[in-house]
Amino acid sequence: MADRFDVLVIGAGPGGYVCALRAAQLGLKVACAEKRATLGGTCLNVGCIPSKALLQSSENYAALTHDFAAHGITAGSVGLDLARMLARKGEVVSANVKGVEFLFRKNKVTWLKGEAQITAPGKVAVAGTEYEATSIVIATGSESMPLPGVPVDETRIVTSTGGLELSEVPKHLVVIGGGYIGLELGSVWRRLGAEVTVVEFLDRIVPTMDAEVATAFQRVLAKQGLKFRLGTKVTAAAATDDGVTLTVEPAKGGAAERIAADVVLVAVGRRAFTDGLGLDAVGVARDERGRVKTGAHYATNVPGIYAIGDVIAGPMLAHKAEDEGVALAERLAGQAGHVNYGVIPGIVYTWPEVASVGQTETELKAAGIAYNVGKFPFTANGRARAMGDTDGFVKLLADKTTDRLLGAHIIGPDAGTLIAELATAMEFGASAEDVARICHAHPTLSEAVKEAALAVDGRALHV
Ligand code: FAD
Ligand code: NAD
Repeated sequence: MADRFDVLVIGAGPGGYVCALRAAQLGLKVACAEKRATLGGTCLNVGCIPSKALLQSSENYAALTHDFAAHGITAGSVGLDLARMLARKGEVVSANVKGVEFLFRKNKVTWLKGEAQITAPGKVAVAGTEYEATSIVIATGSESMPLPGVPVDETRIVTSTGGLELSEVPKHLVVIGGGYIGLELGSVWRRLGAEVTVVEFLDRIVPTMDAEVATAFQRVLAKQGLKFRLGTKVTAAAATDDGVTLTVEPAKGGAAERIAADVVLVAVGRRAFTDGLGLDAVGVARDERGRVKTGAHYATNVPGIYAIGDVIAGPMLAHKAEDEGVALAERLAGQAGHVNYGVIPGIVYTWPEVASVGQTETELKAAGIAYNVGKFPFTANGRARAMGDTDGFVKLLADKTTDRLLGAHIIGPDAGTLIAELATAMEFGASAEDVARICHAHPTLSEAVKEAALAVDGRALHV
């Protein structure tokens, strides 16, 4: 007789493995199928974690080569051991994926090794063995979006996966796409010495973020040496042994031109991954973008089959996938888990960082919501001055009538940590006045958040 589970999760990324852990914590009998040799999904293996390891290493290198002299610190000749840097990144990944394996053992989650296919409602085949499950959770994540005319070989023309593994610093890296991946990995290789050109189809970078932040962000990155070709589309790429020739033209039409690169990084978005799952045979509906359609509480149209994470609608972020995993597990155990989609922070881990939560001005205008803006620059923050990191500002948007916080947008040092206070405030329905009245320690970067909250009412103290 086939092994039977209460919950069988397909995919061990942050959505799937967290769902499996939470369901097991709640006393359910749980299995998680993963076709990759290690647990942790895109995020731990080829996404969040390795990219942050390289961002940290390259940031250290850039600080030593560019910034320390201003602090009165000089060093002899500074070397770059890229092989060691990449090996360290591998060690960080390894520690994280082994951590998930440990958590599976601790919580008695059965890891089914291999590619899973849903053969019928309640039935999943993994590596030739069929299992039964009361609930099946699709958490198969996403993959890099291909770009017509730009064939990826992961050596000369790479996705983020190859972009995390370049064995030497390219002389000229062309990044296609000025979003999260393009700017993070573009920053890594720029700091390590590459000339980096970002080719972006739209007339601005990070299109989902606050427009004013995006303009400031581009200016700071340009100061660091990144070059931008906005409003430009790539129509073809030809790789040779020595490099790549890209054909680009203005997005709105015009003469084509060639750009020579050593390496091209394709970072034009990601798409839901459902290959080989057998969704058509069991009748699981997908939307026009190939994402699994879910209704209330992550249920698909087929009873007993659910979906979470990058494979469904919403921002493709690890913490969104994790929170959906927890909420679904709690629902399956008879509890009332939920996710507040209005308060999901997004962070670009460049330096300075860019972080945002809630609505942008563009969204508020489109929704016809009247709002006040409070802004405070890091140039006026004592700690930022002491650090020598004064680029950027905090910008808060609050309802004009009620003063309730509707959005927060930060570009600046440690913006990713600072945004947590504002996410917490928004979860509690705080007003700008509430944040302004909280005692923030001095001297900290968080005082810029308090000052921006004061600025909503025109009473910032230090500008
Ligand atoms: P995934 O992590 O993609 O996991 C899905 C898993 O399912 C994979 O391991 C896959 O092998 C497995 N699978 C697929 N099909 C099957 C099958 N049929 N049988 C068995 N297993 C299967 N997000 C952030 O929040 N912060 C960041 O800093 C960040 N940085 C990123 C950097 C990069 C370079 C990339 C590419 C992404 C980054 N992301 C980041 C996005 C983040 O990685 C994803 O949002 C997150 O991994 C989604 O989790 P998931 O569980 O839905 O899917
Ligand atoms: P993205 O959606 O962030 O950015 C893609 C960019 O490519 C956009 O600016 C878009 O306008 C542009 N673009 C699209 N088609 C183009 C074309 N033909 N030519 C030129 N530009 C084009 O996508 P991404 O950077 O590939 O990252 C994928 C997803 O992974 C992100 O949306 C995010 O959800 C996740 N991610 C998150 C983090 C993080 O949280 N720090 C880091 C990396 C990735």
